[in-house]
Amino acid sequence: MLGERTDKTVVFTELLIYTLDIIMNGHQIKVVIIGSGPAGLMCAARLAENTKYHITIYDQHACPSRKLIIAGKTGLNVASALHQRDIIKNYRGGATHHFKQIFDQFSRDDWVGFIHQMGVKTFVGASKKILIKDQTAEAFVGHWIRLLTEKGVCFKFKHHFIDFLDEGSAVKIFFKGRDAIKCDLLCLALGGKSYTDHHFEWVEALKDKGIVIPEFKASNVGYQVLWPGDLLKEAEGLPLKNISLTVGADVRKGELVITRYGLEGPPVYAIGSRGTAYLDLKPDMTEQDIRNRLKENLKKLSPYRLAVRRLNLCAARQALLYHCLSGTDRESVAGLVKKIKKFPVTLVGPADIKRAISCAGGVSFDSLDESLCLKAFPRVFCMGEMLDWDAPTGGFLIQGCVSQGAYVAGKIEARFSVP
Ligand SMILES: Cc1cc2nc3c(=O)[nH]c(=O)nc-3n(C[C@H](O)[C@H](O)[C@H](O)COP(=O)(O)OP(=O)(O)OC[C@H]3O[C@@H](n4cnc5c(N)ncnc54)[C@H](O)[C@@H]3O)c2cc1C
Repeated sequence: MLGERTDKTVVFTELLIYTLDIIMNGHQIKVVIIGSGPAGLMCAARLAENTKYHITIYDQHACPSRKLIIAGKTGLNVASALHQRDIIKNYRGGATHHFKQIFDQFSRDDWVGFIHQMGVKTFVGASKKILIKDQTAEAFVGHWIRLLTEKGVCFKFKHHFIDFLDEGSAVKIFFKGRDAIKCDLLCLALGGKSYTDHHFEWVEALKDKGIVIPEFKASNVGYQVLWPGDLLKEAEGLPLKNISLTVGADVRKGELVITRYGLEGPPVYAIGSRGTAYLDLKPDMTEQDIRNRLKENLKKLSPYRLAVRRLNLCAARQALLYHCLSGTDRESVAGLVKKIKKFPVTLVGPADIKRAISCAGGVSFDSLDESLCLKAFPRVFCMGEMLDWDAPTGGFLIQGCVSQGAYVAGKIEARFSVP
């Protein structure tokens, strides 16, 4: 206990001396942020409001926010329009408590307000999603980078971070194949393992320093299905709108997409699990409703053709019924109706983490203090998807990252305040 108090006193004294040094010498606090995703950019935006910070953002890519740009390919869903208390319930992995504190500092309304201040409009779409209006994700990121550049934030690309060394009065940062640099404060906003081919040397480097990092695991991930080749020729990339997916006792309505390797979309992200799942291709109709529609067959069409016409089946549904059902099921009304309501799909296993929307795992909250600063390294902060939390799709992911970025900036200002 005494040892612990002594450690804390030493750290506090160091920080005090350091803050006094800054006040006396009037120099700027050199902050390095690694990662130009939403977490890093928001941390920079908040710090850049104070001219006492000299901020440089480093990224391994040649351009900023690559994942945000990928995320925006089908419309950039930046937040949820749910009530704040319902938003918090979506954060998993024991993170609910942390997010309560974080959202108290930077809420959904703060985030949406920030977007509007950049001159970018939003709208509320289906399922209470808040989306960027009339702009590509590239343009949105462009506004953000311009704002930061105008405020004096510097960017350095093609720098791959591998490790850091806490030298007491500064932090030394190591990049692959480049000279090391020094800064006063280091903010890590490195993201998770989804949608990247890069190496994660930093994980081992931090583990070697005693930081607890549960393994990254795919989350919000599609599932593999062994589709017949003929089905893929017709239906790869096509959406199955308004279906319901049943896995065990769980049922989720929504949209799925047939992909080369399986199925993507919120229902499978939410309840996907190895084994047989069932699609209801007409969730708003009962079996009897469907039978009634297929009763009259004056043109003597095959049951399959009749169903295509009378039920207005989309191309993806047609392809599923045509290529995946046995001739017996396809050519009898009773068999077809049953399969339309309960279409079996074998979910072989989750798709690779490289195809996942997000991941669970990452730096444990137990290794961080309440400022999201590494307990063992009082000049190093962590934020965003690299931390061990998880949330479903629907805007909760980006919201969580930007709120953590802004929260860390607030904590830095409180700790390293300069009058
Ligand atoms: C296809 C797809 C769709 C998505 N759709 C949505 C959505 O609609 N809504 C939503 O809320 N979320 C969505 N997400 C998730 C969202 O994009 C992420 O949660 C978010 O981008 C994470 O932000 P971050 O700042 O923590 O990390 P990232 O955005 O991953 O940024 C981390 C940055 O750090 C850099 N970096 C990493 N390691 C190093 C290193 N060693 N050295 C230097 N730089 C490094 C990376 O290059 C990257 O630029 C989607 C994700 C994907 C893949």
